[in-house]
Amino acid sequence: MYRLILVVLLLTVLYFLLRQMFRGFKTPIQAGRKKSAAQAQDEEQDQMIEDPVCHIFVPKRIAVVETIEGREYCFCSQECSVKFRSEHPI
Ligand SMILES: [Zn+2]
Repeated sequence: MYRLILVVLLLTVLYFLLRQMFRGFKTPIQAGRKKSAAQAQDEEQDQMIEDPVCHIFVPKRIAVVETIEGREYCFCSQECSVKFRSEHPI
């Protein structure tokens, strides 16, 4: 009987460990409200933004961010940025 309790306890600990590991990889958008500024910034960097040229969703972290006419646009590549600028001359 004690052995069963031990196994259940071990599985519970393992479950929480795995869950924490999973959270480390992928931060849910609506995680707890207590967030540090760095964490919030990190989440902002992970935000998926649509490329207005090829309509691919790219994380802000790797996107080519350009401010055109006061609006911020995120592109998947420099080529898309150039294409967008040629299509939308200021
Ligand atoms: Zn693109």
